[in-house]
Amino acid sequence: MKLLVIGSGGREHALVWKLAQSPHVTQMWCAPGNAGIAEERLAKNQSLVECVNIGAEDLPTLLAFAREKQADLTVVGPDNPLALGIVDLFQENGLRIWGPNRKAAQFEASKAFSQVFMDRYGIPTARAWVTNYPNSAIDIAASLGWRCAVKADGLALGKGVLICRTDAEATAAINDILVKKTFGAAGARIVIQELLDGVEISLHALCDGKTAKLFPAAQDHKRVLDGEQGLNTGGMGACSPPPFLNDAELTKVGNQILGPWLRGCAAEGIDFHGILYPGVMLTKDGPKVLEFNARFGDPEAQAYLTRLESDLVEMLEACVNGTLDNLELKWSAMASVCVVMASGGYPGSYAKGKVIAGLHAANALPNTKVFHAGSARAGDQVVTNGGRVLGVTAWAKDLRAARSAAYVAVERIHFDGAHFRRDIAAKAF
Ligand code: AMP
Repeated sequence: MKLLVIGSGGREHALVWKLAQSPHVTQMWCAPGNAGIAEERLAKNQSLVECVNIGAEDLPTLLAFAREKQADLTVVGPDNPLALGIVDLFQENGLRIWGPNRKAAQFEASKAFSQVFMDRYGIPTARAWVTNYPNSAIDIAASLGWRCAVKADGLALGKGVLICRTDAEATAAINDILVKKTFGAAGARIVIQELLDGVEISLHALCDGKTAKLFPAAQDHKRVLDGEQGLNTGGMGACSPPPFLNDAELTKVGNQILGPWLRGCAAEGIDFHGILYPGVMLTKDGPKVLEFNARFGDPEAQAYLTRLESDLVEMLEACVNGTLDNLELKWSAMASVCVVMASGGYPGSYAKGKVIAGLHAANALPNTKVFHAGSARAGDQVVTNGGRVLGVTAWAKDLRAARSAAYVAVERIHFDGAHFRRDIAAKAF
């Protein structure tokens, strides 16, 4: 099979790495990819994965490329091309592609859509309201004692959620989104949720329109500094499984969410093929969905795919074909931890082009894989090229050992200004 993978982050490197292990794959391209992806080789014939310089949102050029190369399957990593309708476009042109179509991708592209859907079909979630009127928003926030999450409806690069605890914070958040239009059209309306307390986990389920197969749980670490301090980021590290949920609890939580979600999709004619990733708060009153995403989490994918024993190509094929009910997903009993190394200044502005040293030494460690995110090749060196630069991932018999191994690998890698959290997967200990 010839595969085209779309995206350039750590999630896409993990997808490429896992897909390349499949004996079904004879050729693979990644658009646009990164320096780490360009070094991956296929297990089948040792050929290199080829990075092609096409942006993940340049749908016409991606379509032309997939056609010219006669790709058997295109795998979409990030949310933007999904929201833009890449799946619909490829399918209209007779090409096979993995990911939700535009209607199904609304679960991520519109928080208002998801909130209304959850309320309509009885999916456990925070108490919430949708509005585009600043004055109503202020009244709602006041009725919650100002303790609320104010969320821009649309895609806002992971920055559209403002957590508020005071009158001043909530008023400023509402004004920023609805009046000052900080997020542009993505903030034409907002969702206001009550603020929930608890432990946050990431769930992932592979769905083929009828069947949803729940993955083990994972946990992201969103804030830039240790102890969940500082600004929100795209994710500074992940682990799987997190220590808060045993298998029976996970199954129960999964059923509480996926049961009504599948019934809702059937009722609304939503044919979801891809990954549904609910962000869930485990509260004292039970699990509550904070939001849905319609793709793999990043860096959760790095933790998951290093634990996956099944053939990922077969999984994605079953997902596209609607035959997931016949497929058993096999996971290693090992735990996996991914520590993100970021550029100095991230999540604010940062410099690019810093030489990265120690990649080979880190990758030479047992059960360790350095996934690249914002990296590029400059001559014979690999340099930084983004905010989140690397996802240093290690797996071992338990979380404590995986965590130690990941940090041993991190210590082998150096670039100017590099920073990372030292408490990934540490909550349990
Ligand atoms: P979201 O993109 O909706 O998942 O929100 C980003 C982050 O904001 C989440 O990962 C949570 O840490 C936090 N958050 C969102 N909604 C709530 C809520 N209702 N209560 C508490 N924290 C929240």
